[in-house]
Amino acid sequence: MNKMFLRLSALSCNESFVRTAVAAFMLSADPTVEEINDVKTAVSEAVTNAIVHAYPDGKGEIAVECELDEKYIKIVISDTGVGIKDVDEATRPFFTTKECDERAGLGFTVMRSFMDGLEVRSSLGEGTTLTMIKRIA
Ligand code: ATP
Ligand code: MG
Repeated sequence: MNKMFLRLSALSCNESFVRTAVAAFMLSADPTVEEINDVKTAVSEAVTNAIVHAYPDGKGEIAVECELDEKYIKIVISDTGVGIKDVDEATRPFFTTKECDERAGLGFTVMRSFMDGLEVRSSLGEGTTLTMIKRIA
């Protein structure tokens, strides 16, 4: 079992860094290009959510924890921001609280379809933790 832990400011300039770092970390498990791209897409959506939604005043941190073995990568992305009032509603396709910013409300839908497991835990005022699993064939 290999592990990685990152902690970063919730700034949009860090989104591509996290996506690329997780992709590089999983290389030792010899994933396919498609598996790498699926993980990059899901990580990008998760980190973007923490940047865009979690901290209305723009100040906060994101933690990214990965666990890797030959068969899967588990990625836990958490923030200590505002949290989500109703997770079932928020994870429905096309639900967004930022319609004015022309967000599609498809981030969670993308994460769910590109990964083999997605769990969302959130509480108001305390933050949000996403746990995602991707099998590596
Ligand atoms: P898109 O991802 O398509 O640009 P979106 O971010 O609004 O749009 P989702 O990623 O599916 O859509 O998220 C749905 C909603 O869940 C968001 O509009 C927001 O209200 C809430 N949300 C998601 N992640 C977080 C988070 N980390 N903290 C607080 N709220 C969140
Ligand atoms: Mg989103």
